[in-house]
Amino acid sequence: MKVLVINAGSSSLKYQLLNMETEAVMVNGIVERIGEEVGSLTYKANPDTDAEKKIVKKEPIADHKVGMHMVLDLITGEEAGVISDPKEIDAIGHRVVQGGEAFTSACIVDDSVKAAIADNNPLAPLHNPANLMGIDVAEELFPGTPNVAVFDTEFHSSMPEKAFLYALPYDLYKELRIRRYGFHGTSHKYVSRKVAECMGKKPEEINVVTVHLGNGCSMAAVEKGKCVDTSMGMTPLAGVMMGTRSGDIDPAIVAYIAENKNMSVAEVDTLLNKQSGLKGICQLNDMRDIHAAVDEGNEKAKLAVDMFAYRVKKTIGAYAAVLGNVDAIVFTAGIGENDDIARAEICQNLSGLGIEMDMDKNAGRKGEPHAVHTDASKVQVWVIPTNEELQIAQEAVELLK
Ligand code: AMP
Repeated sequence: MKVLVINAGSSSLKYQLLNMETEAVMVNGIVERIGEEVGSLTYKANPDTDAEKKIVKKEPIADHKVGMHMVLDLITGEEAGVISDPKEIDAIGHRVVQGGEAFTSACIVDDSVKAAIADNNPLAPLHNPANLMGIDVAEELFPGTPNVAVFDTEFHSSMPEKAFLYALPYDLYKELRIRRYGFHGTSHKYVSRKVAECMGKKPEEINVVTVHLGNGCSMAAVEKGKCVDTSMGMTPLAGVMMGTRSGDIDPAIVAYIAENKNMSVAEVDTLLNKQSGLKGICQLNDMRDIHAAVDEGNEKAKLAVDMFAYRVKKTIGAYAAVLGNVDAIVFTAGIGENDDIARAEICQNLSGLGIEMDMDKNAGRKGEPHAVHTDASKVQVWVIPTNEELQIAQEAVELLK
């Protein structure tokens, strides 16, 4: 089976074509700046192999349909095509951010599914409408090919009420659907299963704390294969500290800033999402730049790393309490996979919880799953590259079987 995975944003469209017999990536790339004066398209056939062919185009790309059409022409084209007919694609998997309470698993898209996704638009106004647009374009360009929606919230739908409810008037949960949903679910699901495989266990046999540290950061407590708590909330602003997002703060701070800085609630919301986190502390939001600044003696940069690591460490402790017994901790995503300095700082002084990192094994980047704990560590610590596209494609294959 060949599965095309699409992640449509408001002005971008990421895509990946996978051969599910081998799980090899046939094509990947991104269409960006859709609707702007000059758009850009990046296309890679057979990426990361000797046969890699890369094409970059810079031209106006009016809308998502035009962008997808350009991609399809390349996929089936002479220059760097990998198939001859769009009908060779057996399914299209779509990343949809907010499934709300309507979706607890992936599903084949029909009109009622699209209506239910649209019903969740108020909960994810920047994402769900764009995801729906991706589905509409796929339906138009690949008539007859099944579309599968895979939700970012789905893996977290197993959380018990005591974990997902906020201590607000209960009616607000029913009236406005205010609750913790959690995000990055596809990544947490993928790495929690992959670590079980690496340990020679079934997901149902182990408890795992998954630590997804990228531009957005989130953590999950996974008990016997099921998520029982996660750090992001009703929106992806909550939880640990992120590149530009504050993570958890005292909620009274919102009104305090609004009043004292004469800002609207929307402006404070932007401040918390775009001007806070690592950037808020040291003006930089990419960990690579922050480490370089630390090396040059920048104290704010050092403080930002310390705050970042401290919050992740605290949440590991919280989830150890939630799970009772932890078999493994998994680091993933841009920072989790690549940043040995942040990982070391997070795992420092956790031997009381049975977590002991081997600093030699932790050093450097490997690009593949590897263990970084000492032989004596009760809890295993792993670094596992996430693969949300493969997880989405696997779910599409499962559903269509
Ligand atoms: P992601 O959202 O998973 O693509 O992660 C993106 C983030 O990963 C970037 O903003 C960087 O902060 C971080 N990152 C990527 N490579 C490295 C690296 N070699 N060392 C530290 N951080 C990295």
